[in-house]
Amino acid sequence: MFSQETNISTLLEAFEQRARLYPSAVPHCVQLGSKDATFKVVVGSAIHGNETGSIPAVISMIDDLSEDNGSLNAQYFFFLGNPDAIRAGTRFVERDLNRCFDLKDNTSLEGKRSLELAKILEKADLFVDYHQTNQPCTFPFFTFAYHEESYCWAAHMNAAEHFVTRDMKIAFSSEGMCGDEWVRRNGKPAVTLELGKAGLSHHAYRTTLSSLQRIIGFVETELDHKRSPRPITPPADLDLKCFEVAAKLPWPGDDAALRPGLENFQEVVQGEELGVVRPGEKLLAPVSGFLMFPKYPKRDAQGRPVEAQGGDILQIVRPLSQHPRTLWG
Ligand SMILES: [Zn+2]
Repeated sequence: MFSQETNISTLLEAFEQRARLYPSAVPHCVQLGSKDATFKVVVGSAIHGNETGSIPAVISMIDDLSEDNGSLNAQYFFFLGNPDAIRAGTRFVERDLNRCFDLKDNTSLEGKRSLELAKILEKADLFVDYHQTNQPCTFPFFTFAYHEESYCWAAHMNAAEHFVTRDMKIAFSSEGMCGDEWVRRNGKPAVTLELGKAGLSHHAYRTTLSSLQRIIGFVETELDHKRSPRPITPPADLDLKCFEVAAKLPWPGDDAALRPGLENFQEVVQGEELGVVRPGEKLLAPVSGFLMFPKYPKRDAQGRPVEAQGGDILQIVRPLSQHPRTLWG
């Protein structure tokens, strides 16, 4: 389900065709397996509309599973988070869907979609959410608040070695809750994987497909043996390399600009020039570490960002001194 010629409208139609064959209670969501299953896996793609890289592998997986649909042990849900934003090629249409999961005001397009998706997410015994970054990544990485069972699933997926984490007591964003955060709040494991730079690629296809095969193969085998699926704690040599945010640099204003070509997980040293706060004033790395989410907004002819900017211009992460289990477990 992936070739260099694959485009988004073909993919969307291919997904919707399967959603018509295997419908769930909410739109843009494929449901497979037995309704009576004791274990339910939910897989999310494109909660941010421009992060489409997991969709081809998800379609391949749906096709694989549907051949044995009558004999699956678990129940599976595959959803497209924000189809309107996928069509528009944007992160979101009205507001960030991945900050919408505990809002009081759900009048926006994404607020309404979060209510639909919550009906699926509340069933999840495991939620895997595939994302991508705006800029290139030195390698894929997991990112979510530390939660022991989620960590064991992430290590089992074998999709990335690096993990950016935080104490579960710290919210990811003051704007609102992410889908994975919402599932963990219900006491269930949820994993977010950043596959690499946003868009379709062979790398995103392979990483998504192999991680889904690892998860689903394990779930089916454990249920075959009448065991509740839960991967063991990885041995120390297979532990993920854990990082925490060491510095957040708030968006300094519309004259600010990063130097070109900064990537996720690029190493920087304290005092290194990262760009300018405004012409003539350098933006320096306040600490040594690895860059995370460097921001390059679209700009007009005068160099001004086309859209209003908030949040951080970038973050810097550093390795944790101890395993997060010891720090916050
Ligand atoms: Zn995302």
